[in-house]
Amino acid sequence: MSDTVSFGYEEVAPEEKTRRVGAVFSSVAGKYDLMNDAMSAGMHRLWKDRFVARVKPQPGEAVLDMAGGTGDIAFRMAERGAEITVADINQDMLDVGVERALERGLTGLSWSCQNAEVLSYPSRQFDAYTIAFGIRNVTHIDKALSEAYRVLKFGGRFFCLEFSTVEWPGFDKAYDLYSEHLVPRMGQAIAGDADSYRYLVESIRRFPPMPRFEQMIQNAGFIQTRVEPILGGLVAIHSGWKA
Ligand code: SAM
Repeated sequence: MSDTVSFGYEEVAPEEKTRRVGAVFSSVAGKYDLMNDAMSAGMHRLWKDRFVARVKPQPGEAVLDMAGGTGDIAFRMAERGAEITVADINQDMLDVGVERALERGLTGLSWSCQNAEVLSYPSRQFDAYTIAFGIRNVTHIDKALSEAYRVLKFGGRFFCLEFSTVEWPGFDKAYDLYSEHLVPRMGQAIAGDADSYRYLVESIRRFPPMPRFEQMIQNAGFIQTRVEPILGGLVAIHSGWKA
């Protein structure tokens, strides 16, 4: 029987995970973008560019950027002319995103507070569904994948960018040391919050390896699934189609 879910290395009740993940992102929202640059030495920008290049959003396409947070993926896709809805469970993250969009003069995006597990959208609304560094934070990943499938049109495409499992020998050890010891210290120094960054590292470790996550995407109904590891699997792009 499994009525608990993982919150980092802890097992907690599902509603407790949702609550605690909310607290993590409310705590880090103001420093989220700065910390991304610091933790990845700016590399998250390249991964996001590559991700959006794979999605290939077209002018006029309706794209749902789920767990869109402060808008990094959404802004890249809006610049290509797609009609973007940014959805996230956390209003604090969305508020930072709205502010950033205004600074960039991007006015055409829709922002919506939504839980990826129970979307308020009717079925078959979107041409593409993207989720970047979001799905590992969702309490029931299978429910989020089913909802992604439901809201996509037939022929719609699913794209997920997420930390995964490093498979390069040697690099895995270095990365473990870096993430376990340095990331929480950077979180403390920059965002004044070591615990939230400790959770983020732990949640990466608990996330299913690439073949298992690909299987979950297939179980939701997607076909022609693909996995593209980046930096030996440090990050991976998973994709699939709704036939
Ligand atoms: N996609 C953005 C990016 O790449 O910069 C933000 C990623 S941030 C690491 C993870 C986001 O997932 C947070 O904004 C958090 O609020 C959101 N999130 C967590 N659980 C969620 C859920 N159940 N439904 C929707 N969003 C969720």
